[in-house]
Amino acid sequence: MPAAVTGIHHVTALASDPQKNVDFYTGVLGLRLVKKTVNFDAPDVYHLYFGDEVGHAGTILTFFPFPEASRGKRGTGEVSAVAFLVPPPSLDFWAEHLSRHGVRFDGPIPRFGEQFVSLEDPDGMNIELVFSGGGETADRLWEGSAIPRVSAIRRIAGVTLLLRDSGPTAELLTGTLGLRAAGREGERLRYNVGEGAAESAIDILTSPGTPPGSQSAGSVHHIAWRTPTGEEQREWRGKILEAGLPVTEVVDRSYFQSIYFREPGEVLFEIATDPPGFTVDETPAELGSHLKLPPWLEPGRARIERVLPPVIVRDIRPRR
Ligand code: ZN
Repeated sequence: MPAAVTGIHHVTALASDPQKNVDFYTGVLGLRLVKKTVNFDAPDVYHLYFGDEVGHAGTILTFFPFPEASRGKRGTGEVSAVAFLVPPPSLDFWAEHLSRHGVRFDGPIPRFGEQFVSLEDPDGMNIELVFSGGGETADRLWEGSAIPRVSAIRRIAGVTLLLRDSGPTAELLTGTLGLRAAGREGERLRYNVGEGAAESAIDILTSPGTPPGSQSAGSVHHIAWRTPTGEEQREWRGKILEAGLPVTEVVDRSYFQSIYFREPGEVLFEIATDPPGFTVDETPAELGSHLKLPPWLEPGRARIERVLPPVIVRDIRPRR
């Protein structure tokens, strides 16, 4: 039996306008669009994946953009913030860069001995930049990024779960998924997952009086944990069932295999395999440049392409 999930695989959220979403995550945050595909369960909607050069597990933030969607209402039972890791000396760069792009931010604010700034994406999703060490992934940074290498986002630093009651979720995180309790600051409990360059912090913020969130644009839909193989994923499936939680069969997501379950605090969890990754159907150089469909949706490509609004990645690289 695997002792622990090996990190955050990806986080998936909801957006409205896909072009604004791409402009923000590539042009302002400097991530790479590593895959342009559709929601496999509802192919009239894009599924956009952003990450490092090839979209390594642990760097991936994905979106389902519904162009007409209204804004979600943040509340309990969901992920209330997604944090990215950036090198500590880049604080001044980011303050200037965000201001230049008209992005308001709060901070720097201290938390667990580190500084972070808090901002919102175009749909009001809560993004944090955590200025911390441990960004030893510089060899995977995207050369075409809008952000100079020295200041670029390294990977996902962690997420915050906003819950009415921390107890049952904390028990699942430590007792079943193998996360490590890492302290408390006020109402915030911290758990670490993964080792070394894959380590992320999962915070539980408890707010018993806050109503449940209403998910729409700007809401995080789910968080996926990493597992190295399909064999371990099957063992995880057994372990989740043993913990008394209903879990889906293994679902083929082309770039990874997935199982899904709802944790006791109502947040949707996924466990996704590291392989095969995003270069399974595009070369590293071409990633994100074509609309990719899984084989079973290819027969409907002409109709899907008619329905989806065009989306482009603007080349906004600074001259250097
Ligand atoms: Zn997912």
